[in-house]
This record gives sequence, structure tokens and C-alpha cells, in this order.
Amino acid sequence: MNQELNAIYRDIIREHHQDPRNYGEVTTPTCVQEGFNPLCGDRVVLTLKLSPEKDRLEDLRFTGEGCSICLASTSIMSEEVRGQPVSKVRSAIQKFRDLMQGKEPPENFEGDIEALSGVRQFPVRIKCALLGWTTLQEALEKVKAV
Ligand code: ZN
Repeated sequence: MNQELNAIYRDIIREHHQDPRNYGEVTTPTCVQEGFNPLCGDRVVLTLKLSPEKDRLEDLRFTGEGCSICLASTSIMSEEVRGQPVSKVRSAIQKFRDLMQGKEPPENFEGDIEALSGVRQFPVRIKCALLGWTTLQEALEKVKAV
């Protein structure tokens, strides 16, 4: 990857880190789920509001502390999945995992998610990027979302 692209990736991650989207807590959440990455000390707390049928993620907000990659990735995730059907949320989580594990090429993603693919150059940071996403998956399992 060339330096210019790296700079773009850094800018997007920095921007989300400084101004995280959907930061805070959902009032009357369906579920609260905490995730922790001991390798880096990242911690995120997701609050979710699901539709009564549990088939749509009506709202998602997060708080947390950690490195810029973790917080930026969780911010980008929240934009991606908020308001989506749970089936789409699940496939977005899987697709992002595949991106981080090198099974899905960055070209298959748009916008800020593609920027996160730069993290793959730093294997130790992949867990940072995945934390919000795996925590969301755990939350969906816990509430038996459909
Ligand atoms: Zn981290």
C-alpha cells in the first residue's frame, strides 16, 4: 500500500476517533453488551434497541475507551448497521470479519469501512478493529435476535 493511501486511512480513523458517531446510550435499550480486548485494553459498551419482533436493529449507541482503531471501527460499524434488519447486520458482521481475516478484498467495501482494511497490515490491531463487531454479534445472540 502506498503512503498516500495510508494517509487517507489514517485521516478517516482519526476523524471517527475524534468525532465518534452514535456515541452515547440508547434510552430503554433491549440489550447492553460489554466487550473487552485485553491485548490492548480496549473496552466498548453497546446499547441496542431492537424492534418488538427482534428482526430490526432500530438503534445502536456505544461508549468506550481504547485505541483509535477500536473506537473508529465501532463508530463506523454503528453507521453501517443502525436501522438495518438483523439479517443484514449479521451479514455485515461476517463480511467485516472476512475483510479482517483477508478472505474478502477491500474493493468489496465502500467508504469508511474500506479505510479499516489498512489495519490488516498490523495483525496485532485486528482485534482492536473487530471488538465492536464481535460485541454486537454477542449481543444479538444474547437477545436471540432473528
Ligand atoms: Zn486497541
